[in-house]
Amino acid sequence: MSRIWNFAAGPAVLPAEVLEQVKDELLDWHGAGCGVMEMSHRGKEFTSIIETAEADLRELLGIPGNYKVLFLQGGATQQFAQLPMNLLPAGASAEYLVTGSWSKKAIKEAQRVCEGVASVRNAGSTEAAGFTRNLDTSVNANEISIDANAAYLHLCTNETIHGLELDCSRLPQTNVPIVADMSSHILSRPVDVSKYAMIYAGAQKNIGPSGVAIVIVREDFLGKAWKTIPSVMDYAVMAENGSMLNTPPTFAIYVSGLVFKWLKRQGGLAEMEKINRHKAELLYACIDESEGFYRNPVRVADRSRMNVPFTLASAELDTDFLAESKAAGLASLKGHKSVGGMRASIYNAMPTDGVRALVEFMQDFRKRKA
Ligand code: PMP
Repeated sequence: MSRIWNFAAGPAVLPAEVLEQVKDELLDWHGAGCGVMEMSHRGKEFTSIIETAEADLRELLGIPGNYKVLFLQGGATQQFAQLPMNLLPAGASAEYLVTGSWSKKAIKEAQRVCEGVASVRNAGSTEAAGFTRNLDTSVNANEISIDANAAYLHLCTNETIHGLELDCSRLPQTNVPIVADMSSHILSRPVDVSKYAMIYAGAQKNIGPSGVAIVIVREDFLGKAWKTIPSVMDYAVMAENGSMLNTPPTFAIYVSGLVFKWLKRQGGLAEMEKINRHKAELLYACIDESEGFYRNPVRVADRSRMNVPFTLASAELDTDFLAESKAAGLASLKGHKSVGGMRASIYNAMPTDGVRALVEFMQDFRKRKA
């Protein structure tokens, strides 16, 4: 068996060690006589799996005791709608920052579900700049206008398509509670959870298989849900039921739990941050030192360590680059259609050796084609 270096944006590469463990436990989990996919979500085996997963996630992220952790279905996209239904009371308003495709989708969906109920406002956007930088959040900047009475401010801390990242030391200075979509960089670096009213993320990039989304929400933001929403959509109901009002995505939660254990074995998020910073530096250096053969359009301070989009000197080279990289065992490098070019997603589970292999390929390709 030979595995490719998989640069897909999500579903994405998982740690080989975790997949080996899944393989070993697939037919018989710890002597249960059946695999996790086949066992009751109410039994003691699965209860221990979900409780351990939550405890490990709490430890990794340092989640304070007054936050609930929910394992939900519907992906991060469902959260775009579920979030206002839970946190934005009728007649209130919410603010959204738009810094890339995902935060744009988030506001659009919130506006859709809130029509006639509550107000969803664009409080600042970099769309005119082609989503190549984050908004300036310093005190004197006037790029953002936040209504101090808003129920929450939504932002996306890692824009997967445009390749922008915002670390929690550069959040807007406001007393309005902040809600963050961290789908594509959660667990890649330490984060101060207490700075957020809510964090959410789809699993299929840095957590585990698709099918589960994680919501981390401060307890005092619960209980404001619209009265008519389905009970599976109500955070407070899900929290009361330990994410098991109905059958949860058991297999995805189990694999996510194994990823959390793997992250702990790597030394936790401080260690992951060092590795991820190094991987990103290798790749951005290759781009920046290519004398314009490769280009990444994002302002240096805002560049994502997880998703690295880049274009080639001419679009005619794209086909060759994709074919030759694939032949060299480097997969899924085609950029998102809305930005073109290439994109390398280098999440936690992408080893440094994979990034080195990509850099070597890029240097060689340039030498041959420049
Ligand atoms: N937010 C971000 C930042 C994403 O990258 C994605 C998926 N690429 C989503 C939301 C949507 O996630 P899902 O497909 O799980 O709904």
